[in-house]
Amino acid sequence: PDGLHTLGRWTADRAVATPDRVAIDDRGVTLRYRELEERAADLSAGFLRAGYGHGDRIATLTGNSADQVVLFFACAKAGLVLVPLSWRLTPTELAAQLATADPALLLVEQEFDALAGAARAAMVAEPTTAALGPGGVEARVPAPASHGGELPVRRPVSDDDALLMLFTSGTEGPAKAAVLTHANCFWNNLALSRTLEVGSRDVVLAVLPQYHVGGWNIQPLLAWWAGATVVLERTFDAGRVLQLLAERGVTTMMGVPTHYQMLAEHPRFADTDLSTLRLAVVGGAPMPPALLRSWHRRGVQLVQGYGLTEASPNVLCLPAEDAMRMVGYAGRPYPHVEVAVADPATGRILEGPCRGELRVAGPGVFAGYFRDPEATARALAGGWLHTGDLVERDADGYHRVVGRLGDIFISGGENVAPAEVEQVLAGHPGVAEAAVVGVPDERWGEVGEAYVVRRRGVAVDGQELAEHCAVRLAPFKRPARFRFVDELPHSGLDKVSRMRLRAGLAADRAAAEAGR
Ligand code: ATP
Repeated sequence: PDGLHTLGRWTADRAVATPDRVAIDDRGVTLRYRELEERAADLSAGFLRAGYGHGDRIATLTGNSADQVVLFFACAKAGLVLVPLSWRLTPTELAAQLATADPALLLVEQEFDALAGAARAAMVAEPTTAALGPGGVEARVPAPASHGGELPVRRPVSDDDALLMLFTSGTEGPAKAAVLTHANCFWNNLALSRTLEVGSRDVVLAVLPQYHVGGWNIQPLLAWWAGATVVLERTFDAGRVLQLLAERGVTTMMGVPTHYQMLAEHPRFADTDLSTLRLAVVGGAPMPPALLRSWHRRGVQLVQGYGLTEASPNVLCLPAEDAMRMVGYAGRPYPHVEVAVADPATGRILEGPCRGELRVAGPGVFAGYFRDPEATARALAGGWLHTGDLVERDADGYHRVVGRLGDIFISGGENVAPAEVEQVLAGHPGVAEAAVVGVPDERWGEVGEAYVVRRRGVAVDGQELAEHCAVRLAPFKRPARFRFVDELPHSGLDKVSRMRLRAGLAADRAAAEAGR
């Protein structure tokens, strides 16, 4: 039999417990739990008949869709690995990810045909490709290129088999293929269920992209485990989300701070009926305090969290009752998650209140990066997942994320974490978004340069921001220059990407040198 923690069991169980409950509402097209199980079981059998075997990767290029959910559970049942690729990539980036994932099949939604074609043209070995679209995926499973015609015997799926392969969004480095097993997802959702208490009466609004871990493991999978209804959105659109919150009886949702910011700034925010929304989950980046307060004023409970793809992703949680008491904190570990703080210089695990690199252990920690034993060994050295995030822990065990170790620059011999400066800037009413990077400086070695997007309709200049920082930050942390821009580069999850900003600045500098 299949392992007890395998996710193929979930839809089978639900088809018995809540067969007629709507599992997915994909832009008005609904799928009940009975149908979800039937379609996933059919598709899984189709894959096995066509010759796909254990551990084969099934890649997709599609927007969020019910078809992709069917595919997820079909892969779970067949021992296949789903690799949802981002449609926001360039053809070259996509070709690199396809080469790494080496899929047995690539399923492409019509809208992304041109992108897939351009990516395949850039590849040495093209994967077998099929269309994903109206009519469902079941009828569209061609045999893999290498299939010799022998029908494989179905091997039971085990808890430690790979289930999802996700490219980390690459905010701070080249994308790597993180492999999550059935057990990783099981424990992540079990931990989440003890905090969020999602049940079969809930209506969950899902707006995060399915090419990111947040599109599965933060709420939607828990919802399908619990028998809830998932209102599945293709992408995030603030006006539409407000309408859905009011009209669909949404009880819980998940987003990154940027999403909550866009909702709060929407002209209809103040009048939208939010009475059914009992819980809003936010994570992925620090939540600006002013934003927290504007949601609090609307009576919405905010659960904040910290996580990363390699931890499936949930690590720290700040429950709603702590939201206003512990502003700026990401919280304490979820159940079944162990954390430690290590001295970044020596690697020694620190005790009590301290500042250092956050490390994670437990059944949610990923299996490794696909076909990259060196990067895996580095990430998991000493039995801990090295997050690369700098945190402060207080005497009660609450953690505050200070920034990324790799982002830190040294100004006059002092370490500066850009995220800390960005949080201060985000606290100014005229600032919509800010990113700080360290740039070379003759006198100080490096100084901070702030890139700021003004909030619409608010006039603010560098002098005012300098004064704002002067009373809140030590001199070495204060940006030496403020540059106002129309927008900042973002990663796949709508998070500001300092890496892309730095790369853009380096390219500008090179162009200026060349033009001289
Ligand atoms: P890459 O890992 O390739 O650099 P990424 O950072 O976008 O890309 P994700 O797994 O999507 O990868 O994001 C995880 C990171 O997001 C964490 O390591 C941390 O830096 C940041 N993060 C997540 N939650 C929070 C939070 N609540 N507060 C501050 N930072 C957070």
